[in-house]
Amino acid sequence: MSKTITVLPGDGIGPEVTSAAIRVLKHLFERFNHDVRFVEKRIGGAAIDADGTPLPQDTIDQCRLSDAILLGAVGGPKWDRQSMEVRPEQGLLGIRKAMGLFANLRPVQAFAPLIDASPLKRAYVEKVDFIIVRELTGGLYFGKPSERRGERREQVVDTLAYSESEIERVVEKAFRLAEKRRKKLTSVDKANVLESSRMWREVVNRVAKRHPDVAVSHMLVDSTAMQFIINPSQFDVIVTENMFGDILSDEASVITGSLGMLPSASLRTDKVGLYEPVHGSAPDIAGQGKANPLATILSAAFLLRYSLDMDQEAALIEAAVQEVLERGYHTPDLKVDTGDSKPVDTAGMTDQVIAIIDEKRRSMAEKG
Ligand code: NAD
Repeated sequence: MSKTITVLPGDGIGPEVTSAAIRVLKHLFERFNHDVRFVEKRIGGAAIDADGTPLPQDTIDQCRLSDAILLGAVGGPKWDRQSMEVRPEQGLLGIRKAMGLFANLRPVQAFAPLIDASPLKRAYVEKVDFIIVRELTGGLYFGKPSERRGERREQVVDTLAYSESEIERVVEKAFRLAEKRRKKLTSVDKANVLESSRMWREVVNRVAKRHPDVAVSHMLVDSTAMQFIINPSQFDVIVTENMFGDILSDEASVITGSLGMLPSASLRTDKVGLYEPVHGSAPDIAGQGKANPLATILSAAFLLRYSLDMDQEAALIEAAVQEVLERGYHTPDLKVDTGDSKPVDTAGMTDQVIAIIDEKRRSMAEKG
């Protein structure tokens, strides 16, 4: 049956990196005879300019009809002075909420040819391979009330609210992921201070009983921030609430050295998901062919694996990305240490990924 991917290119380098990923996907779908349709819609600043809102209803309606969503990035200086409700970022928060995408997955993995770009010592980084599962639709970012108070508006309140079921569904997702990996789950909270964290721990311990083969530990968020720097390879799957996950995943993004390499997936209970690179719209390099498309291409691999059940195709993309770096190809943001540096632009990098996918397919076919 035909599948539909909605593409939301967004702003800045968003359109450049999404079209690179679409080229890779279309190539694979053609080679493997998959019937997949792409529909493009507006979000963020591009939607503000055209429709007066960062998230047009038409975009939400189309996403609801889709099997998966591929997003570039939103934002840029052009919209920085807009009031909060009509900022590009509202498009992103709004689509996650409208689609009920409650689990954000961010892998943190060392790519051998890029390790020297990490601010940490090589020995700490070499074995890093973990994934952060961040709760995405609850907690401080959505709790009400969130307002200024008092005669002079001299007081302020934000609310950190969770229900047991909101915690349980994301924790369950993290356990299932851990079962497919090294069977080790770290739940991160601030249970020595926050009531919400104490309830979080209770739910984690309850869900753990359904997954006896996964080793669970609890870690305070401040200690986790430290452990990321002194021993990042100890982690396998990390699960945490919205704001802790936001901060920790940005900290984790620098461990492996390049923002242009990090994919993400936002999932819910069924197979529908939204896939996007971790980086922003990089207005400083937009339109110059300098954008590294690999984070979005790796996000497309996630899309194949989690939303379309195409594991083999996803693995081909991931192997091709590893191989382009090993062969020395790099966009200006990457410093590869293969001794054989081959600078390429966005399109050149995409061409290489596609060429290696074909090489790998041919050698798989020859091996039978
Ligand atoms: P950014 O990630 O856009 O850029 C940070 C730096 O990394 C820049 O020097 C940029 O050139 C570089 N960079 C980022 N992605 C790259 C890529 N694929 N290839 C090569 N270099 C890359 O973060 P920022 O500068 O803080 O934010 C710029 C805009 O993006 C802001 O409007 C911000 O609100 C928005 N933003 C959007 C998202 C999102 O859509 N998910 C995330 C973060 C920031």
